[in-house]
Amino acid sequence: MVKLYSYPDSADGYQIRDFLSRSVVEYHYVQINSSNGLVQAGIGNNEKLPVVELPDGHRLYDPSLQDLANHLGLVKPMQQKEYDLSIFGAGPAGLSAAVYAASEGLKVALIEKLAVGGQAGTSSLIENYMGFPKGIRGAELAEKARQQAVKFGAEILLLREGIRGEFIDGKAIGYFADGNTILSKANICATGIDYQRLNVENEPQFLYKGLYYGAGASEAMMCKNEHVFVVGGGNSAGQAVLNFSAHARKVTMLVRGHALSETLSQYLIDRIVTRKNVEVLYHTELTAMEGSHNLEQITVTTNKEEEQKYSTSKVFVCIGGKPRTQWAKDIGIICKDDYLVTGPDLITNSSLPASWTLDRQPYYLETNIPGSFAAGDVRYGAVKRVAAAVGEGAMAVTFVHKYLTEL
Ligand SMILES: Cc1cc2nc3c(=O)[nH]c(=O)nc-3n(C[C@H](O)[C@H](O)[C@H](O)COP(=O)(O)OP(=O)(O)OC[C@H]3O[C@@H](n4cnc5c(N)ncnc54)[C@H](O)[C@@H]3O)c2cc1C
Repeated sequence: MVKLYSYPDSADGYQIRDFLSRSVVEYHYVQINSSNGLVQAGIGNNEKLPVVELPDGHRLYDPSLQDLANHLGLVKPMQQKEYDLSIFGAGPAGLSAAVYAASEGLKVALIEKLAVGGQAGTSSLIENYMGFPKGIRGAELAEKARQQAVKFGAEILLLREGIRGEFIDGKAIGYFADGNTILSKANICATGIDYQRLNVENEPQFLYKGLYYGAGASEAMMCKNEHVFVVGGGNSAGQAVLNFSAHARKVTMLVRGHALSETLSQYLIDRIVTRKNVEVLYHTELTAMEGSHNLEQITVTTNKEEEQKYSTSKVFVCIGGKPRTQWAKDIGIICKDDYLVTGPDLITNSSLPASWTLDRQPYYLETNIPGSFAAGDVRYGAVKRVAAAVGEGAMAVTFVHKYLTEL
């Protein structure tokens, strides 16, 4: 089994834990609290933490995620010069598209900038996805989908970030942050959304040092005796609250609205209100953070005027997000509020955009560039549920087949 040695407040240590958990790599976490701890772990004073020990005993000192993923065999080289379909984003929509496309015989590459699963992969328990009456951990659902896609022959290219796209002579060219490119006949963008930031002063200082974006599925076990704050009133925040409340001394949920029912599913509300160590503060916002090195104290403002300070070293922010689609706008793909517009939503005043030159109408999940599709949360009008993203991923592949027959 992989072993991770890290100081408890290390930002790098957190990112490795998060990556391993999301990639469903079993690991044993050893917190180093003193120089004695270093000696016991056999780590010299001059060696840089975090240290990852691989199952064969080989140790990596302060590895990048890329390094770690390489050593774990998670990063594979591209096998083809050209694919039928490239899919960017391995959340539920991208994974589902990869499963369907590969199972139907397409040469498909699924490109993911971090770990498979996307937002769903960070969920401690998905309870409303059909077929799992007891719920399923998001990372486990994603890992099963990954295995299924690979079984059918999809190539999964992890830790590659798409930064630009182009359509030239009917071919999609995707550019990666590492300088490589990928060529395909059609493309599905399934890059979901990125967490919205709090926009509080000092945010960069405390990022991964007390301030975390997302539901912190890998962290709950480490919050024993802590007073944890969760910012947000939606389902992801609600799940995080329940997960932390099973381990932490106290969990406070900071909600901007006046009731949970506005934003949270009833099954989560029913549980939150009966947890003795959970409090919900309404009309509140986190407005300041302090600490000498790590987060030590936050200020919570109620009704935009009353301020109250709380000691805490752990804040998890789940306030939704927005897609990152500048690359799409740069090549003329139509966006609304940063979401990619597809199919019937491209029609305004009974006409299609001037950029659409084909005789047929755009397919339901097709953007205004023929052969370029969008599925899941990145799409304008998406429902923002795992099942919806999975459905759209599958549906997009049907339209990809139709498009390919036109070439
Ligand atoms: C904590 C949490 C709990 C949730 N629980 C539930 C639940 O219980 N039930 C439910 O129905 N829904 C739930 N949701 C919502 C659900 O997870 C999302 O609606 C769903 O994940 C959307 O899937 P997606 O594939 O469209 O996008 P995402 O899940 O956002 O996946 C997008 C993927 O694209 C990758 N990516 C982004 N940009 C690039 C790029 N440039 N290049 C390569 N890759 C890129 C990202 O790293 C990510 O892996 C939850 C969300 C969160 C955050």
